[in-house]
This record gives sequence, structure tokens and C-alpha cells, in this order.
Amino acid sequence: MRFDLKSFAFADEAHAPGALAVAGADRSLSWAQLRDEALAWAEAARAAGARPDVPVVIYGHKQAAFFVAMAGALLIGAPFVPVDTIYPPERLRRIADIVRPAAIYDAAAGRFEARAGQELAERGLAYVMFTSGSTGDPKGVQIGRESVSLLADWMLQCFGLGEAPVFMNQAPFSFDLSMYEVFATLASGGACVMNAREQIAAGSPWLARLAEHRATVWVSTPSFAHQQLVNREFSPATLPALRTFLFCGEPLPSALAKKLRQRFPDAAILNTYGPTEATVATTWIEITDAVLAAHDPLPVGHAKPACELLVRDGEICIVGDHVMRGYLNRPDLNETKLFRHVDGRRGFRTGDLGQMDKSGLLFCRGRMDDQIKLNGYRIELAEIDEALHGLPGVQGGACAVLRRPDGAAVRLIGFVAGAAAGESPALLDAGALSGWKERLARRLPPYMVPSELVACPALPMSSNHKIDRKRLIDLYAGIPA
Ligand code: AMP
Repeated sequence: MRFDLKSFAFADEAHAPGALAVAGADRSLSWAQLRDEALAWAEAARAAGARPDVPVVIYGHKQAAFFVAMAGALLIGAPFVPVDTIYPPERLRRIADIVRPAAIYDAAAGRFEARAGQELAERGLAYVMFTSGSTGDPKGVQIGRESVSLLADWMLQCFGLGEAPVFMNQAPFSFDLSMYEVFATLASGGACVMNAREQIAAGSPWLARLAEHRATVWVSTPSFAHQQLVNREFSPATLPALRTFLFCGEPLPSALAKKLRQRFPDAAILNTYGPTEATVATTWIEITDAVLAAHDPLPVGHAKPACELLVRDGEICIVGDHVMRGYLNRPDLNETKLFRHVDGRRGFRTGDLGQMDKSGLLFCRGRMDDQIKLNGYRIELAEIDEALHGLPGVQGGACAVLRRPDGAAVRLIGFVAGAAAGESPALLDAGALSGWKERLARRLPPYMVPSELVACPALPMSSNHKIDRKRLIDLYAGIPA
């Protein structure tokens, strides 16, 4: 059985209905069970007020019911808004205020909280994905049903995933990387093995679980795969069915690709690139030994079918029907980030610096703005600035990034200016730090909370009245140990 992403209904129902569809962190579902539960979910959602073009928020972490709810929402044409519990309740509330959902579905409790939902101006969306926003609030990326259908077609035609692939899913569903596994599982009739944070933390039993389900495709950021290399059991001996590493979300270091080639000589490594705003990914390349010998840093690949890539004034721009329909209720941003291409298709200015060779092979050369990736998480520094500024007694807040020599972000340092600060910048002591971190964690997910905080009399500004982040790092470096 599979879920058809043209008609948005279950298809080939007589084919292997008992095959595994979803291994949630809590329980597993065959394809027949997934179909029955998704149909039942759709009924319950309708009873709670869900209807086409009115979003439904799904809140949880790796329960089988989370996957059921996504399939059920696709069945009824209600765009789903996936929110992982890594987001604190305050962020869930802010997202709900922005999307005006018909209901919030709690996947752990299996309950709907009905709301006064509002129809979206955009019709026929598959999902709305929230990502860090530079104004202090997360921003909703609206992805159409046509875009997810294109995503699955590309994966199944070009990635060499084989019949009924079994995906290792680890990224929270509130990160669009995870939509790779969701839509490829649905379209192929394969399976999605979802892994909760606690399961992954257990190490060897987690790898044994992947082996038991015969996982064939590993989907993660490069950072996540890098963390696994310390475990010798992360190997073909433990994971004999694994044949593909599918990476996206941040630069793939060639050193990591080389280590994986050594550890898993028979597995293909795919580097893919693209922002959430263009439905998970836009380019791809298999990182073979020949590619490794020819390039360092590695390229991010060629454009996927039916997509055009442009590099305008150094900035990567993406054209195609997989480009979002716009940020929800943000005409200001849509005005600057979206454009209409000469052929009438949607175009998106990524903010990524790039270079393309004559064959169309793309290289990503970093960002033009204050958006960063930390362990694969996308963060707008301005959103952290806002949260710091909102702390009691603080007159100004800003955040800076400590980087490795290769440019990768490793740590966030927060700076607060206010009455409590002395004459010169000083690190907050452990007691004060934990209190302030607790406050920040009410608003921000853990990966956006700075690891250290510096109190300073004033924040350094550049000549155009913006925070001077380079001088913040100098301030930090100047603090006596
Ligand atoms: P996200 O929307 O979370 O997928 O983040 C998208 C951003 O991550 C892109 O605009 C790039 O800055 C970066 N990115 C994603 N994939 C890659 C890649 N393969 N190589 C380099 N940077 C990447």
C-alpha cells in the first residue's frame, strides 16, 4: 500500500497491507493500520472543526499518532503545522496565535483542543513549517501540495532508494528535513522508523532497533551523523541493510564524508541542499571518491528536475513549483524574498552565497545575513536578541557566535546591557546564569539558549546602527579568565 501524493488518498490497498508503515517511538503500525487510523483521525478532526485550508497544529514527539495525524490532515486537505515538544509551550502558543488553527492535536494524549480556526488565503497547502524569524517571532513557511508531490517524485526517481525504503527518522517534525522521510514513506509504501531523543541517547539499543527494522536510508544533518561516529557499533556489522546516507541542512564536511566512506564502504552518500522555503531540498549530488578527490569544500550538487537555479549578485536563487507560497501573514518579507521568474514560476532569494560552474554544479559559500546553523538547527540571531532584550531589567540584548576555524558555529554567547552591569563586561555567575537561562527557555527552544551570558554597560553598534557582532566577540575574548 502507499499514499498517493497526486490524489492525496491511500492507493494500492491490496498490496502488502500488513507491511510495516510506521515504527513510532511508542508503537508500530502496518499500512492497513496506518490507513484505518488516519481515516479515523480525519473523522475526529472534522468533529473538532478541522476542514480544508484551515490549519491543524500537531504537537508531540515521535509518537506513531504524530505520523497518523499528518496523513489524516493530508486526507482532509487541512494544512498541518508540525510542532515538536522541543519547542516550549510559549512558542506553541505564539505559533497558534499566528496560524489560527481549527484545532491543536496533542499526539501524546490523542486529544484535540478545538479553536476558532481561520481559513488561509493560500489554498491547497500541505503544511506550514515554522522556522526562526528575525523579528523575534518564528515565521510560517507555507508549502503547497504540488510541492510535496514534486519532492517525493524527485526522491523516488533520482535517489536510488530501492523498493519500499525504510527511513531512519530522527529530526523533529518541526524541522523540514524530516519531511523527506514523511513524504517518501507515504509515496513509496516504505516505512518510517521514528526515534525519540531518549531512544537515541541510549546508543547501542537504539542502533539495534534500527537493525531490527532493517533501516535502509539514514536521514540526518551531517552534525548528527558525526556524533554517531564515536560509537564503533555505528557500522555495517550492526546496520547491514543501510545503503544510503541522505544529508541536508548544513555543509557536509569532506572529512566526515571520508570517514563515512571508510566505515560504510558500500553505502551511497548524498549531499542535498536547500532552504525550508523550497520544500526540504533543491540540489543533490552523490559524494563518491571521485567527488571527494576533486573538491574540498564539497559541492551541494545540481538542480533537481523542473527547477532552475540562478546565482544573482552572488546570491543563490531558486525557481520552481517547489518554492513556498509565501510566509504566512508576512507581506513585507514576501515582497523582498519572493519573485516571479520570467517563465511565471515562483522564485526565492535564499540569502545563501553561491557559485555555479558551467555544468550547473552548485557550491554554497555561506550566508549574507545573520542566519546561522548550530548543530544543524536554523537560527536567526535577531530572534535571540529579542528574547534577551525581553529579560527583566535589560535595556539591550544581543547574541554572538563562536566559530571553529572552518567557520562552523559551535556556541552562542548572549550579551545583556542594563543597570545591573558594572563598568566592564563580565560573565554572569552560575547562579544568575541558570535563572536567566530558565527564563529564556520559556520562550526559546534549548538549542537557541546561549551557553554563557555577559553583562556589559552598553552594546557595541556599527555605523549603520546595527549590533556589531564582531565587536561582541572581541568583548568576550577580552574578559579575564
Ligand atoms: P533549513 O531551512 O533549516 O533547511 O536551512 C536552510 C539553510 O541551511 C540553507 O539556506 C543553507 O544556508 C544551509 N544548508 C542547507 N543544506 C546545506 C548544504 N548541503 N550545504 C551547505 N549549507 C546548507
